[in-house]
Amino acid sequence: MINPLQAMARWRAEENALDSALSLFAAATAWGFAWKLLSTPTTGRPATEVELACVLGGCVAVTSWAMARHLYMIGRRRPRRIVFWSVVITCGVLFATRALIRYSFSSRCTEDMAGVLKTPAHWLGGSGIDQICVVNEVPGNPYLPGTLLEPAWSGDIPAWLAILLVAAAVTGANGLRDRRLRSSGIGAKLLDQLELAPAAGVESAIGKVPPDGEVVACGNPTLWGEICGQLYPANKKWEPGEWCRRCQQPFLAADRMLRFNVVSLWTSDIDVLNGLERLDTLSWPMGQPVPPDARVSGRERWITLGTLEMPDVISVAQALALAHARLEMWKGADDPMVKRAAQLARERASRICAWIWFGQVSHRMTYARPTQRARFALGAARLRDLVPEGGETLTLQLDVGLLPLELRLAFRRRFVDETRPDEVRNSKLDLWIPVSPPPAHKGEPGLWVDRIEGKALRAWLATDRMRPAGVRGVSTPLGYRPYSADAPMTELPVRPLGRLDFQRQPLDEDGEEPRSPTLPGVSVAEWDWFEPEQIELLRREALVLVETDAADEAAKEAV
Ligand SMILES: [Zn+2]
Repeated sequence: MINPLQAMARWRAEENALDSALSLFAAATAWGFAWKLLSTPTTGRPATEVELACVLGGCVAVTSWAMARHLYMIGRRRPRRIVFWSVVITCGVLFATRALIRYSFSSRCTEDMAGVLKTPAHWLGGSGIDQICVVNEVPGNPYLPGTLLEPAWSGDIPAWLAILLVAAAVTGANGLRDRRLRSSGIGAKLLDQLELAPAAGVESAIGKVPPDGEVVACGNPTLWGEICGQLYPANKKWEPGEWCRRCQQPFLAADRMLRFNVVSLWTSDIDVLNGLERLDTLSWPMGQPVPPDARVSGRERWITLGTLEMPDVISVAQALALAHARLEMWKGADDPMVKRAAQLARERASRICAWIWFGQVSHRMTYARPTQRARFALGAARLRDLVPEGGETLTLQLDVGLLPLELRLAFRRRFVDETRPDEVRNSKLDLWIPVSPPPAHKGEPGLWVDRIEGKALRAWLATDRMRPAGVRGVSTPLGYRPYSADAPMTELPVRPLGRLDFQRQPLDEDGEEPRSPTLPGVSVAEWDWFEPEQIELLRREALVLVETDAADEAAKEAV
């Protein structure tokens, strides 16, 4: 189970560790650079005041920022306290570095260069330098005085520099205390996770709900801008004016209850399902209306598990949690089909997404797509936003990871017997495609949302291929031509002129024929992967094999 609080603590720890390491590294690098620059004995001029101000000012600002970041991260957020401690620590680091620079000048002089440390003569006194290094001097010989090396910085901090450094430290600490090197990703990650978080269902109800018990939800609007939706057992006795424990307002039950028939697939074996759909494929001569559907297999794809009544203010994930709790009961049913479907749904159904069907469908359970009027319901959406007002029959279809698509194809069949004329036919079939990851062996099952990769979908749809015109005994795919009573077809197509492509097209009211509008984005060839909205449209509309115009193709290629 995803625990947002634990995940947040982990992300926070990771980000803070990185932030701390990066800021300390930046400060250490800056001081390392300053130490190297300022401790080298030099024969020329020492560092000028401007150089000194730049180098030390930069180091001080970075250190003070790093200290302020640390104080900020451990929760000390008051600016004065942050500034005070940052400046104190930075001054400490500055004086430590100063001592280190003086020490390393003397050690370099005596050890590396075999020189002698001396106190400078009066002519150097004004620069504040109190130690110089004399190399290769012959003692007592005034003609061989050796080389005189000075430190780049005497360690002296004049008053103006002290003021500047303190100002840099204060500004660095105060102005940059909430500036991180990498911006935090916790907000985005948390949103992602909440979108895919399962709900707790009856366990989140306040008060004990019996296993088959009804629930009510609080319908108060809340101060944080959404509906409360807290669950309570339906049999709880409310005192007048008693407060809801979540929104802290007098309890007001959501008045609209939604009654769902819960259905699920009888099997998750995609080969069996697609075999059934091949049996039930409908094919008819092109240019004629769609014939009545015989449903040869007669097999019900969908099994009604039971009914479930829920308040409309709860979210889809919460509704699915209630449905999953009820599955435990339904899997003990007497009917073996219900038992099997409930068992399958328990193992494989998503806890975050499902489909809601509108209208009466109980007579169409042998169809892979009993109705076009299906909505893809996702995690955090509220039921009331998905289900419009009105007394329609509602069906909650649990999603076990298989999506039915309707395909409209056409083909021309040439027979081996040359005297037999060619047949040109339209056909209509459903195709199941897998849209879920494989069932989880460990961890929490059902934490996924339908996902379709463009490449995989095209591979599933690649059912037939083009062949040369002369080949006999095979069928060649053609673009689907819908029947129209107003404009009867005079000439049957011989072979596709342009290129064949699957396009998503809405079906007319009774689902007979596609109404081919030309909209951008309807071709499945264009997409690398499909958004939930597109998956919903794939489910509601049909995929029609169309011939893109040969003239269009030529124009496109010319461009
Ligand atoms: Zn409430």
